[in-house]
Amino acid sequence: MAAETQNPPRIGVLAIQGDYDAHASALRDAGAEAILVRKPEELASIDGLIIPGGESTTFLKFLARDRFLDALQSFVRQKPTFGTCAGCILLAKEVRNPSQESLAVLNATVERNAYGRQLDSAIIQAPTQLEGGPLEMVYIRAPRIIKTGPEVEVLAERDGFPTLVRQKNILAATFHPELSTDRRVHRFFVDLVRSQQNQSR
Ligand code: GLN
Repeated sequence: MAAETQNPPRIGVLAIQGDYDAHASALRDAGAEAILVRKPEELASIDGLIIPGGESTTFLKFLARDRFLDALQSFVRQKPTFGTCAGCILLAKEVRNPSQESLAVLNATVERNAYGRQLDSAIIQAPTQLEGGPLEMVYIRAPRIIKTGPEVEVLAERDGFPTLVRQKNILAATFHPELSTDRRVHRFFVDLVRSQQNQSR
């Protein structure tokens, strides 16, 4: 079936804290149906998931309840998942500053709050592999990806460090694409979800 005639993919946004509403409207702009996810059982009905920015330690505290972390662990191993900022920290195999628990699916080492106070929140334009020229990147107390495995594709960088990466079905950004008007990153993720749906048909 051609992508245009398919039903829009149902993509969840983990709505525990952070700017999940901005992600939901970015997903709608990119042609998906957005579902706010607050309980582990809601993961069963979605084709992909966004884990937004916020405070990764707060996410971990919340996810410790109702075996939510276990449900997420199995979800991220099966369906496309996009983590932004704190979401990227939650996806990484190794977290530093300090070390903390994670879903450990993205073969990367991420350092939390890695930029000095002056630089940790910033809006910059940087080149990207996504079509359409430089991308605006909004950073808020941003982490830094300091190491990636060979299966990780780097789609954008800041000062030589990856800021948008993809490993098969996993997408991660250290910035907040939902806070810019450019929808290329969300469209890229929606396409990833669509292509996985087509494969599993
Ligand atoms: N500083 C946060 C953390 O370490 C991430 C910030 C964000 O998501 N904007 O979890």
